[in-house]
Amino acid sequence: MDYQKIINEIAQEVTPFLKDGKVADYIPALASVDPEQFAMSVTLFDGTQYNVGYADRLFSIQSISKVFTFTLGLNIYGSSLYKRIGREPSGNPFNSLVQLEYEHGKPRNPFINAGAINVTDALISHYESEEVACEEVMEFIRSIADDNSISSNEIVSKSEMKYGHRNMALANLMKSFGNLDNEVDDVVSVYFKHCSIEMNTKMLSRAMLYLANHGVDPITGIRYVSVQRAKRINTVMLTCGHYDASGDFAFRVGLPGKSGVGGGIVVVVPKLMGISVWAPGLNTQGNSLVGTKALELFSDKTGLSIF
Ligand code: GLN
Repeated sequence: MDYQKIINEIAQEVTPFLKDGKVADYIPALASVDPEQFAMSVTLFDGTQYNVGYADRLFSIQSISKVFTFTLGLNIYGSSLYKRIGREPSGNPFNSLVQLEYEHGKPRNPFINAGAINVTDALISHYESEEVACEEVMEFIRSIADDNSISSNEIVSKSEMKYGHRNMALANLMKSFGNLDNEVDDVVSVYFKHCSIEMNTKMLSRAMLYLANHGVDPITGIRYVSVQRAKRINTVMLTCGHYDASGDFAFRVGLPGKSGVGGGIVVVVPKLMGISVWAPGLNTQGNSLVGTKALELFSDKTGLSIF
């Protein structure tokens, strides 16, 4: 299949819609991003890469980091991680407080904010300091993306902290129910550092290969997670990766994926490839509007989906 031709076509088809999305505006660093940008990358198991648009441009990965922290959390705690977080779709916005209240401080899944904050707490407890927990997440991402240049943007994370009242509220609510071990400020600050990691679509599509290949990086041969955990991470991406639009994304694309408010989306095509798109304008649920459209077109044009 001529993937280059297909993604070139997609880039052309989606360009008129770039102006329809709305960039995240809760912090200045994201509010100032030009919405009229698009990038898409496909990485195959032999490392062959197809790119279109601004595939070299770094952006804030935001909630895509939740896939990586969940992977580390599962590797450390195994299924006992599910004592603190669930694995059901929430059907609510990514930063909603309501379910936490009547579910006794247990977040619905690891891919909404409360869930990822909780996983971050578990990582800090395991690694014994916030700095080490942060560094382990960075090292994991550098390894799966095979790129040592990846880092977190401090201006973004400080700004997130300044305006992070809702995430602080989520952490406080979990703490009040006894479902957070460390200090609220420390946990939320590490969570924001993960959100503020910057990558491009080339790096992110490469980083998805371990999930496309049963937990083993097909290029380096490194096993990052067991076969069973890779299956489960993919499944939770399919059911919960797009918050209250997870059903719609699965309906349209038919592949496991995870979005972030920076406008990035990662997708896994099992046994074949990793994909990433970036278009900063978001839909009402906080997922990239054009990114979702591009992935739907990709799945339609190639016939690739898990179904
Ligand atoms: N930093 C964002 C927040 O915590 C991440 C959310 C997202 O990407 N959906 O609100």
